[in-house]
Amino acid sequence: MQHTFDYLIIGAGMAGEAAAQALREADAKATIGMLGDESHPPYDRPPLSKKLWKGGKEEDIWRPIDKARAEVTLQRRATKIDRAAHVVSDAAGDTWKYRKLLIATGGTPRKLRGGDDFIYYRTFDDYQRLRKAVKPGARIAVIGGGFIGSEIAAAMAMNGCKVTMLFPEDAIGARVYPESLADAVTAYFREKGVDVRAGAKVKGGSSGTGGTTLELENGDSVRADAVVAGLGITPNVKLAEDAGLAVDNGIIVNDHLQTSDPDIYAAGDVASFPAPALGHRLRVEHENAAITMGVRAGKCMAGQDAPYDELPFFYSDLFDLGYEAVGTLDSRLETVEQWVTPFREGVVYYLDAGRVRGVLLWNTWGQVDAARALIASPGPFDAENVRGRLPAAA
Ligand SMILES: Cc1cc2nc3c(=O)[nH]c(=O)nc-3n(C[C@H](O)[C@H](O)[C@H](O)COP(=O)(O)OP(=O)(O)OC[C@H]3O[C@@H](n4cnc5c(N)ncnc54)[C@H](O)[C@@H]3O)c2cc1C
Repeated sequence: MQHTFDYLIIGAGMAGEAAAQALREADAKATIGMLGDESHPPYDRPPLSKKLWKGGKEEDIWRPIDKARAEVTLQRRATKIDRAAHVVSDAAGDTWKYRKLLIATGGTPRKLRGGDDFIYYRTFDDYQRLRKAVKPGARIAVIGGGFIGSEIAAAMAMNGCKVTMLFPEDAIGARVYPESLADAVTAYFREKGVDVRAGAKVKGGSSGTGGTTLELENGDSVRADAVVAGLGITPNVKLAEDAGLAVDNGIIVNDHLQTSDPDIYAAGDVASFPAPALGHRLRVEHENAAITMGVRAGKCMAGQDAPYDELPFFYSDLFDLGYEAVGTLDSRLETVEQWVTPFREGVVYYLDAGRVRGVLLWNTWGQVDAARALIASPGPFDAENVRGRLPAAA
C-alpha cells in the first residue's frame, strides 16, 4: 500500500511525539504520518525506572499524541529511505512518500553474549516483564552501574526485592561522579540493603525453572529470579547510514536539526548535534534533549527558523537522592566539589582547559540555566575561582 504525507516521522518515541505536536501547531492543515515499531503509542521513558516503582500510575506515562492529529502506525518498522524518490519503505511492504522526513529512532540496548533472557531495560514492555517478577523477597540481579542500572537497583530495593548489583567499575557512577561521590553513593546503596559487587564482570547466564544463574569472570555465580541489564545503548543509525546520510556516533545534524540531506531531519538520542558552548558535537540520551530537539525539528521542518542552540540537561533519582546535570560529566576531567552537606547537597564542577565543561547539581535545584551560562562563559576558570559560582542568586 502507498501512503503520502507532508511530514513523516520515523520513531513513535519522545522526540517523534514532540515533533508531531510542533508540526501541527505550525501547520494546521498538513498531513503528518508516524511509524513506530513498538506496539505502544509514544510514552515517557523516565518513569519506567522511577515513578512507576514509587506509586506512579501507568496511565500517566502516555504522551498526548492524539492532539497532534497524526496518523500513527504502530508495530511498523521503517526499513529503507529512498532519498531521491522521497519514499520510506517498511517491513510490511508499504511505502510512505514524504515532503520532509524526521528520523527519531532512539537507540537499542547493548546486550551481553549468553544473556538472551535478561531484561535489557528500555521499553514499557520491559517494565511490564520486570513488574511480573517483582515481589517482596524476589532476587533481582542488576547488571550495570550507570544511570539505568543504579535507578533500577534503587527501585527494586524500595519494592522489597533482594538486589544484587554487578558492574566492572570500582563504584556506582564511577564514569560520571568524582571518586569520593561515587564511593559515597555506593556506600549509600549498601546501607539500603543492595548487595553491590563492584569490579564484577558477568560472563553470561543460564536460565532454568528456578531462575537464572549468572557466571562471573572470577568464578563466582549469582542466582536471581530476574536479571535486568543497563549497559547503555547504540543509536539506531542504520536507516540513515544505508541512505548515505552523514553518521558518526549518531546522525550528524546542523543547528537546525537538518541532516546532510536538507529534506531529512533527525532528533533525540539518535542525533549528533553541534554544541558551541562545549566546542564539539554531542549525542545525549536525555529527555530534555529529546523533547526540545523534537519541537525545534518540527518547527524547522515547517519552515520556521528554530535552531537547537541550548545545552540539554539530565536528571536522575536514586532513593531519596536526586540531581540535575548539564554539559559533559566525565570523571576523567578535573572535578571541583563544593558541598553544603557532603554527598547530600552541593555542586560539582567539571573543568578542562580553563573552562567549565559540566556541572552536577546534587540535590540543588533551579540552577540549570545558571549552569548553562557558566559553561558558555569563556573563563578562564580554575579550582579556586570556580568555587561559589553556583548556586547563583535567583
Ligand atoms: C528506563 C529509562 C529511564 C530514563 N530516565 C531518564 C531520566 O531520568 N532523565 C533523562 O533525561 N532521560 C532519561 N531517559 C532517557 C530518555 O528517555 C531518552 O533520552 C528519550 O526517550 C529519547 O527519545 P527518542 O525519541 O530519541 O527515542 P525513544 O524514546 O527511544 O523513541 C524511539 C522510538 O523509535 C522506534 N524505532 C526505532 N527504529 C525504528 C524504525 N526503523 N521504524 C520504526 N520505529 C523505530 C523505537 O522502537 C522507539 O519506540 C531514560 C530512558 C530510559 C529507557
